[in-house]
Amino acid sequence: MQRTARCHCGNLTVECRGEPVNVFMCHCEMCQRRTGTAFNLGAWFPQGDVKISGPRKSYQRSGELGAQWTFQFCPNCGTSVCWTLESVFPDQVGVAVGCFADPGFPAPTLSFYGARRHAWLTQPAATPSHLGTLGSELE
Ligand SMILES: [Zn+2]
Ligand SMILES: [Zn+2]
Repeated sequence: MQRTARCHCGNLTVECRGEPVNVFMCHCEMCQRRTGTAFNLGAWFPQGDVKISGPRKSYQRSGELGAQWTFQFCPNCGTSVCWTLESVFPDQVGVAVGCFADPGFPAPTLSFYGARRHAWLTQPAATPSHLGTLGSELE
């Protein structure tokens, strides 16, 4: 299976071979701000199965537990299409599920920061849900 994620304007593309290792759903404030919507869906692929093409800039920030996230975004339209989290997933790339624009994309395998989920949003029944992140539950 080959899938291509692309930014809003189409200049930045990410080709992904095979199936994602994980599909994470995250309701945290940073994901809400990055995506501009209620939650993030990110599909993680082995680095060797991902080919990033086109102009891009990167933005780095620290996660709540201190890990360094690096996001790749299109300098023309601003969409952040993919990212890495070296210290946690050194050999994987996270890709924004929305950039595939594929309603048949695999469902999320895990959900994080459920404590910050918008009240109207129903958690998918088949997706295990953490109130915080792994190792730092907010309960
Ligand atoms: Zn673009
Ligand atoms: Zn998040």
